[in-house]
Amino acid sequence: MIPVTKPFLPPIEEYQSLVSSIWERQWLTNNGPLVNELELKLKEYLRVEHLLYLNNGTIALQIAIKALELKGEIITTPFSYVATTSSIVWEGCTPIFVDIDENSLNIDPKKIEAAISQNTSAILATHVYGNPCDIEAIQKIADKHNLKVIYDAAHCFGTNYKGRSIFEYGDVSTTSFHATKLFHTIEGGAVFTKDPEVLKRMAYMRNFGHDGPEQFFGLGINGKNSEFHAAMGLVNLKYVDEVLKKRKELSLYYVEKLKGLNKKTNSLLKNSEFNFAYFPIVLPSEDILLKMVKVLNDNWVYPRRYFYPSLNYLNYVQFSEGLTVSENISKRVLCLPLYQTLSFEEVDFIARLLLRVQNN
Ligand SMILES: *Cc1c(COP(=O)(O)O)cnc(C)c1O
Repeated sequence: MIPVTKPFLPPIEEYQSLVSSIWERQWLTNNGPLVNELELKLKEYLRVEHLLYLNNGTIALQIAIKALELKGEIITTPFSYVATTSSIVWEGCTPIFVDIDENSLNIDPKKIEAAISQNTSAILATHVYGNPCDIEAIQKIADKHNLKVIYDAAHCFGTNYKGRSIFEYGDVSTTSFHATKLFHTIEGGAVFTKDPEVLKRMAYMRNFGHDGPEQFFGLGINGKNSEFHAAMGLVNLKYVDEVLKKRKELSLYYVEKLKGLNKKTNSLLKNSEFNFAYFPIVLPSEDILLKMVKVLNDNWVYPRRYFYPSLNYLNYVQFSEGLTVSENISKRVLCLPLYQTLSFEEVDFIARLLLRVQNN
């Protein structure tokens, strides 16, 4: 079977050796030495000054919204994973969807201003598939209207913009280290900010708001992560350059093999370095997509309709019309299998199946 993704697993001995050290220390969670070491190593690798390691990417989004004290309406993209929208609603704010750009598949900055009202407090945009949003255009709008910017950078480990990690942009940037992501700690996530006040608030928030055993800085939640998760991160970090390299090679191989396929791929932001986190193709119609999925499934290949459906269809948000690009693309986009142990022969096989459907 060829799934859309398989989690990266390092040599088991390396993980076991760190687990043994946890046994010796008997320190399992709560800001332990491996968590601290992982934070340090991640800062070094990503060349960022600050980050907070958390238990997942959804809590990261919720802590970001809470720490920036956002209220009312948050402008966001309907073309993302559900956690982007659910976090807004969970924090008592209202998502206002703005359509995406049909080439980048990211929120369309040209359509943001029309959605701003007196109640707008922020823009929460996703760098879809690891491809950066038009950061400068978004910042300009945010500055003009005094809005905060959060980036859901869950897909972005290894993506750079103008030579710097994409996590450096926005008032807060969040990411996920879930097992399906390019770099993972089984479950995990992080927040990034350059604002020392916001950083401090988020640090307290991650640990129930504790300021010492009997004192509280303010409202908090359990956003901590454990030594076992950090151990997986420390081992995986040693292999992440290999992972990035393999994904690039496989992606370029797909490009080559799918030359004859009638499809579009998303255009990348200028001055950015892409991490090849996903291999999405936009097909001419939903009909052909469904035919391709059927034939792939018949051959034990399981691509994923990601993202589908467009998030304005969630039953807990006000349905909004006019999101024609997001609705249209979400019906026609397919992410093809891409993971460390996928072979070039398998890519060949998948490509042949797709072309066979098209040419039948
Ligand atoms: C994976 C993902 C999340 C959620 O991260 P978790 O660590 O699974 O909670 C949020 N947004 C996007 C775009 C994602 O892909």
